[in-house]
Amino acid sequence: MDADAIEKYRKAGNLAGRAREYGASLVKPGARMIDVAEAVERFIRENGGECAFPCCISLDADAAHETPAVLDAREFVEGQVVKLDCGVQVDGWIGDTAITVEVGTSKHADLMQCTRDALAAALEVVKPNVPIEDISRAIESTIRGRGYKPIVNLTGHSVDQYVQHAGLSIPNVAQTARGRVQPGTAIAIEPFSTTGAGKIRDTKGGHIYHFMGARPVRDPVARDALKHIAERYPKLPFAERWIAGAVPPERVAYAMRLLERAGAVKQYPILHEIGEGQVAQFEHTVLVLESECIVTTKA
Ligand code: MN
Ligand code: MN
Repeated sequence: MDADAIEKYRKAGNLAGRAREYGASLVKPGARMIDVAEAVERFIRENGGECAFPCCISLDADAAHETPAVLDAREFVEGQVVKLDCGVQVDGWIGDTAITVEVGTSKHADLMQCTRDALAAALEVVKPNVPIEDISRAIESTIRGRGYKPIVNLTGHSVDQYVQHAGLSIPNVAQTARGRVQPGTAIAIEPFSTTGAGKIRDTKGGHIYHFMGARPVRDPVARDALKHIAERYPKLPFAERWIAGAVPPERVAYAMRLLERAGAVKQYPILHEIGEGQVAQFEHTVLVLESECIVTTKA
């Protein structure tokens, strides 16, 4: 990894960490979810970065990949368990980090602390050429040791320039871990633990999309949306909210439906815990270099 990439990974990670803490400070009963997401995204853009993906706000048994819709009226409600996941890119070099906060209560403080501890345990064992199984075992044993379940089908991942999920997976359980972390790799480690069954399934209704390619579309609103997406978000995930500058906000959902049907975009499913358990997640990005490991997303 060259010096320029390292520098940009560090800049993206530092900004992602600050965005995470800022966003977490805004989560309060009665605050609008869309205001928090947009404040985080504005903070990133005003401080020299771009969003690597929309600010994710996933509630309770939703583990990941939810963000407010355009014209979303939802407010935070006391007792919710909120996963706030922030991604920053600087010239495509990515920092990916997440925190879990409870809205106005602390009924799930133990679940959250165990997940924070699982991340710390994972970071303890990370080093060049470490078997991924060792990282996964540190996560799994910390979570199980406290009486919770790791989510077996969610993983951390390597990142690369303009690639949010590169080749490596870092599971929450040792059994499915494969390979080693070669020096020169950036990895996002993100333990997920739950009071539920320990597994997620895809559910519909997410508001995050990925550009798949230009396709012929007749509808003028959908065509405007597609032009905007192809220009601005050709490589990384985007929120349907981000299209509201190009087409009227009340037509965005309609345009996205047409584009999805045409195969021009793909919607990310919301990842939902099958036992309806509460889910906590903490995440840091780490540069694994020849002689050191740098956690880029510490605030
Ligand atoms: Mn993340
Ligand atoms: Mn991640």
